[in-house]
Amino acid sequence: MINETPRVRFAPSPTGYLHVGGLRTALYNYLFAKKNNGEFILRIEDTDRNRYVEGAVENLIETIKWTGLVYDEGPDREGNYGPYYQSQRLDIYKKYADQLIEDGKAYYCFCTPERIQKLREEQQAKKEQAKYDKHCLNLSKEEVQAKLDAGEKHVVRLNVPLSEKIYVNDIVRGKVEFASETVDDQILIKGDGYPTYHLANVVDDHLMKITHVIRGEEWLSSTPKHVLLYNFLGWELPEFAHLPLLLNPDKSKLSKRQGDVAVEDYKSKGYFKEALVNFVALLGWNAGDDKEFYEMNGLIESFSLDRVNKSGAVFNVEKLNWLNSEHLKEKDNSELLSELKNLLENSEHSEYSDKDDVLSKIIEVMKDRIVFVKDVIESASYFFETPKEYDEKTIAKKWKPESNKYLQVLLEKYEQLENPTKEDYETTLKQTLEEHEIGMGKLMLPLRLAVSGVGGGPHVYDILDIIGKEETIKRMKTAIEKIKAE
Ligand code: GLU
Repeated sequence: MINETPRVRFAPSPTGYLHVGGLRTALYNYLFAKKNNGEFILRIEDTDRNRYVEGAVENLIETIKWTGLVYDEGPDREGNYGPYYQSQRLDIYKKYADQLIEDGKAYYCFCTPERIQKLREEQQAKKEQAKYDKHCLNLSKEEVQAKLDAGEKHVVRLNVPLSEKIYVNDIVRGKVEFASETVDDQILIKGDGYPTYHLANVVDDHLMKITHVIRGEEWLSSTPKHVLLYNFLGWELPEFAHLPLLLNPDKSKLSKRQGDVAVEDYKSKGYFKEALVNFVALLGWNAGDDKEFYEMNGLIESFSLDRVNKSGAVFNVEKLNWLNSEHLKEKDNSELLSELKNLLENSEHSEYSDKDDVLSKIIEVMKDRIVFVKDVIESASYFFETPKEYDEKTIAKKWKPESNKYLQVLLEKYEQLENPTKEDYETTLKQTLEEHEIGMGKLMLPLRLAVSGVGGGPHVYDILDIIGKEETIKRMKTAIEKIKAE
């Protein structure tokens, strides 16, 4: 395989949404392809008719496109190896199943579900592994033909050799050994004529000239079946790399019960695709240093399969949030502005959605303090409305009996200012402090509380500047009336 262009694929089965683990698999394939001047293919593995979900494929493709992982070949990007939907390749799988039967590497099985069930129960009772017992392998060619002619329901099974060692050379896990006795005679073609994942996957990886199979660890136990198929069909094996499991913080397997697992959920919560991509890249990989903030180009430059870990990767939402805030800081204000405008349009403050000047100032002062753009609306609503209430803890700590008095003095001075700038508000406040020989805390915090209702946030002069003199005065008056020291 030396000198061959690396070709990798992401091969999801459409289940209705893109799982974050799926995104990690897709991303590692993409990074590997880009890093090695290879090609990244998207193949839709939609042969399980029982799992068919209306709209799932469209949703999956749309989500992949949103993440920015542009595929070189796949649905609506035809290359030389299509179609890229397995459901459109059924005759291809049948051809190879027939060849395997012909060569004695696969066989027809006519066992009824009842017999299979009984067999399973017997094996369970004896504490044996549930496995097909090769019963139908004993049928003669004539018997098989007669059953087929009579239209008996059947499947096609892989004829796994009895006692052989099967080796999988895995880039992440090294050489993994399987005893063929533990491998079931896997169904290759189901009763409905559709292939199972195993047959379709191997046939397509071969025909699509996939050089590296990079996928989740949950597929490792299927790999010996795939290795047998490659050998039986006389095909060269691809390289394998099985990626570590994703875990909840309590180290159990990542599950819906402990948080969101769908990429769409993160998207709708307001995470940036750059942050999500950066975050999932670190789930099982690092460049060997403690760098954590990456943009896509940096990931491509640094990525290598050699540095993928074996042990499970914990999905830590706090880290994702931190990365989101870091990516937010790197964004152009114009992008943040247009997102904020969209959010405002659908909020109770829609009258602000076209006030670009004010919104740009808000973004400027809030950019370093938020995780999501929506935080501007949710945690700094004072930019858009008079505080409805005042934080009680801050009152208790910072509002003194004389606060109302000093605030009144300041208010009168502010009223005299003409078109004040940020600096004017500051100078005037400082003057007041000097005149009354009081410390900054005595006036600044009551002022902040009066205009914002809360004890923290951007510089108070920034807030005044953004809401404007008239609104500042109004809010100060209301606060002087409403807030009393406890
Ligand atoms: N269709 C499989 C899935 O849904 C693909 C596994 C593989 O990459 O081989 O994950």
